[in-house]
Amino acid sequence: MFNFFKRRYKRIIADIEILNKVPMEIAIYDLQGRYQFVNEHYLPDRTMARAIIGKDDLYYFTVAGIYEECAGERKHQFERALAERKITRFTERLEYKNTGKVLYYKRFFQPMYSRNGKKITGMSVFGSNITAIILAQKELKYLAYHDKLTGLRNRDAFNEMLDQIILDAERDTNGRQIAILYLDLDNFKLVNDSLGHDIGDKLLKEVSERMEATLRKNDLNFRLGGDEFVCIAKGIASDYQAGIIAEKLIKSISSPYNIMGHHINYLSVSIGISLFPNDGDNRETLVKNADIAMYHAKKSGKDNYHFHSDTGRVKSDDRLKMEKNLRELIKSKQFDQQLKLVYQPIVEDIGDNKYKIIGFESLLRWNSSELGNIPPDIFIPIAEKHNLIQKIGDWVLQNSCIQYKRITDKYKIPLYISVNFSAKQLFSTIVVDKINALLKKLNIKPENLQLELTETSFLSSEPQVNQNLRTLQKMGIKIAIDDFGIGFASLVYLQKVPASTIKIDKSFTQKVNNSEQHQDLVKSIIEMGKNLNKNIIAEGVEKTEQVQFLKSHKCIKYQGYLFSKPLPIKEFEKILEKKTENHYEINLEAD
Ligand code: C2E
Ligand code: CA
Ligand code: CA
Repeated sequence: MFNFFKRRYKRIIADIEILNKVPMEIAIYDLQGRYQFVNEHYLPDRTMARAIIGKDDLYYFTVAGIYEECAGERKHQFERALAERKITRFTERLEYKNTGKVLYYKRFFQPMYSRNGKKITGMSVFGSNITAIILAQKELKYLAYHDKLTGLRNRDAFNEMLDQIILDAERDTNGRQIAILYLDLDNFKLVNDSLGHDIGDKLLKEVSERMEATLRKNDLNFRLGGDEFVCIAKGIASDYQAGIIAEKLIKSISSPYNIMGHHINYLSVSIGISLFPNDGDNRETLVKNADIAMYHAKKSGKDNYHFHSDTGRVKSDDRLKMEKNLRELIKSKQFDQQLKLVYQPIVEDIGDNKYKIIGFESLLRWNSSELGNIPPDIFIPIAEKHNLIQKIGDWVLQNSCIQYKRITDKYKIPLYISVNFSAKQLFSTIVVDKINALLKKLNIKPENLQLELTETSFLSSEPQVNQNLRTLQKMGIKIAIDDFGIGFASLVYLQKVPASTIKIDKSFTQKVNNSEQHQDLVKSIIEMGKNLNKNIIAEGVEKTEQVQFLKSHKCIKYQGYLFSKPLPIKEFEKILEKKTENHYEINLEAD
């Protein structure tokens, strides 16, 4: 008898030894959820292990210093296993009061049965610590949805979250809107190019911190890549409210930065806003529209915001009419009846308040018989879009050259003519020959013709464009980058493009009297241009202070209303007639 007990006791001891050594947490509850057994892995502190026998989880969680709420899930799973009479699996999260430490466990509840297998006599629980796995998963998820540099959410997160927000909003009919604010930093490339990528990265980090600090708790910020950010603001009552958010962002992001000793005061931001549901009922449309609005903000001088709803000022009806009218005009070949060129002088400071005319730019005017006068920045993009610009451009080039030839022969002054050219005109393989033939026919030296193309034209993916530009440059024709600063080309890239002249966009020139910030920016553009060995012309000069500023930074070529508005040929000739040794005289003091 004694031997039997000894053997049985030994077996129990051996079983417990095994249970203790299993590298897994094991415990046994009775049907009321009171501990009957816990192994060493479950509770290495054996005194505490003995103390919890006969007690429930609430007691255990209290003595172990785990938040009591964490016991809720376990209770629920315990009851489920009992009711369903089968094994249940779940992930448990335990948070410790003192340290704030959080651990994750994979747990199983396995009901224990009587010998005949009918009655449940207790509950065994098994658990393993999976904290490392969960944290790794969280980290992976974090990395997949966050931008490494700034810590903001990334494009994937934006796509997923916006889709979800739209879904939620469709169900919710409180009449509130969602604003998508699309941010693109102004002049960021200049920072990268002039101060290096390290400073650029630090700057992006600070921009994201400022965004986070500026916005309300419920607004979401994302970095889409490069210097593009987006903010989703929910519960917007009116456009006005979205405008206020944009203003706050502009104010905060456009304030000066001090990064590793570099004072940067010319960074600003252009924001485009689209609103759900008015500007689109799906992500793609909302994003596209916010992007278009952002581009308009850039075009209208940067450091600015623009609503998509304001973008379609030229209604699509009018666009259609314009397209139709332009087609008819081209078909009729009666360009002279509706198209006209005006000319604006380009001058150079030659000291003593004297400004010599060195060339002039021809600018197109369209007086449509049906629609009246239409500004070129409205109809030219339409002509470009529908491939009508080629024929119109031919007419412009030919007439500009004819007038140029006539004027220079008549007044005997060395001038050049500058003609706006659209990238689409350079798609053709015969454009170079056409220009060559025209110059030969009129006996104009190639170096007296300058073609103005916008920054984006140089970035055209059409290989023919670049090839043509290089051939034209080899022939001696001058190429200028128009509206410099507005586009998105990096200065490093511009170093490689075949252009000898930079025309600083009028929005920059006009801002130099606004703030020191803009002065620094224009100064940097001039310096960069000089470093790239480019000839620099400031456009849109309207005030003498602008000239003074530009001059003090060695930019001495100008174009703008201060000298002359674009004029019809007769009036332009009057200026040339009044010339004293080919120059204007403008008294800066008296202005
Ligand atoms: P752009 O090439 O930048 O031309 C300069 C524009 O600035 C002209 O507007 C001119 O009138 C205006 N401007 C000149 N000085 C000042 C100033 O001091 N202050 C202000 N506020 N503005 C000044 P415009 O003539 O309305 O032309 C607008 C744009 O249309 C041009 O910008 C150019 O991109 C395009 N364009 C004009 N003619 C042609 C053309 O024949 N072919 C092509 N492809 N584009 C053209
Ligand atoms: Ca131009
Ligand atoms: Ca321009």
